[in-house]
Amino acid sequence: MTRPILTVQNLGKTYPVKKGLFSKGTLVAAEDVSFTIHAGETVALVGESGSGKSTVGRCVLRLEEPDSGSIEFEDTDLLNVSETALPALRARMQMVFQDPLASLTPRHKVGKLVGEPLLLHATVPPREIDAKVAELFELVGLRRDHAERYAHQISGGQQQRVGIARALATNPALVVLDEPTSALDVSVEAQILNLLMDLQEQFNLAYLFISHDLAVVRLIAKRVMVMYLGQVVEAGPTEDVLTRSFHPYTRGLVSATPIEHPLEVKQRINLTGEPSSPIDPKPQCRLVSRCPFARPECSQEPTELKEVKPGHFTRCIRFQREHVDGVWNPEPVTV
Ligand code: ADP
Ligand code: MG
Repeated sequence: MTRPILTVQNLGKTYPVKKGLFSKGTLVAAEDVSFTIHAGETVALVGESGSGKSTVGRCVLRLEEPDSGSIEFEDTDLLNVSETALPALRARMQMVFQDPLASLTPRHKVGKLVGEPLLLHATVPPREIDAKVAELFELVGLRRDHAERYAHQISGGQQQRVGIARALATNPALVVLDEPTSALDVSVEAQILNLLMDLQEQFNLAYLFISHDLAVVRLIAKRVMVMYLGQVVEAGPTEDVLTRSFHPYTRGLVSATPIEHPLEVKQRINLTGEPSSPIDPKPQCRLVSRCPFARPECSQEPTELKEVKPGHFTRCIRFQREHVDGVWNPEPVTV
């Protein structure tokens, strides 16, 4: 197998926060996050709002400084790279945002917006910018006359096409897509997903696809990581993770998804109770307060993501200890 284009190891990011009037705490937005992505591959990152998905995406692109861990991108150690080398690397890694309108300045026509990254990174000579913009417009399915409009004068789907054109302008190898279709209608969403898949094939792009929608993830990614309160709790091939989940949290997510029910395990899991706080978390399973299978040991020790079947990882300590060939269907603990 070829070397991954992106290797993230033990990434951590915290934010100092106020806890009360006088005390401070540490909000753990991402902890011990490790993964790889190959050229041409999509890896999805799913989880509820606040689980740390965008933080991971921003850290990977160095839009934010992680506190710990390492990131290797195209054989470069991203966290120890010189300031002078950074712009060229930035051109190779791009982001597409959830809210296309908010990420496009209202001051310029969209033709100019698509040309902007070309100017900034000087990837083509100035006299070729117009031709390159026209090429990008065609690539993402925008008409030439759209170039003369402002972002608010085109539809949501067209705005996202502009966002994608901007991301592709500098010939990136990796694109972080942060909920790129969450703001769109279902029919438009399908068109944008198709466009993203076509572009990936055409340019052998690596995607980190952030989403909270399991149906979308199932369509677009062969591998998925499930995040909960800053940690990856399960990771593996998408079909396996969604149909033979190795973590109660994933089973809860799948059970709550109104898609054709893919869960092979018999149980539907209802995650009741309040999520625990991401501020100064205890060294224990973060799901304890909501997990129907929680036992005393779950709140007595820190958890670690472990490979339970080839390529399929879980952070659930009960699963790790009690499964037989990746099967674990315990009775819920009644309280
Ligand atoms: P997601 O994208 O999964 O919704 P985020 O990565 O946006 O999650 O946020 C993860 C956690 O980090 C949340 O608890 C959020 O409130 C917190 N967070 C994100 N950015 C900041 C910040 N700049 N300062 C303080 N807390 C933050
Ligand atoms: Mg987010």
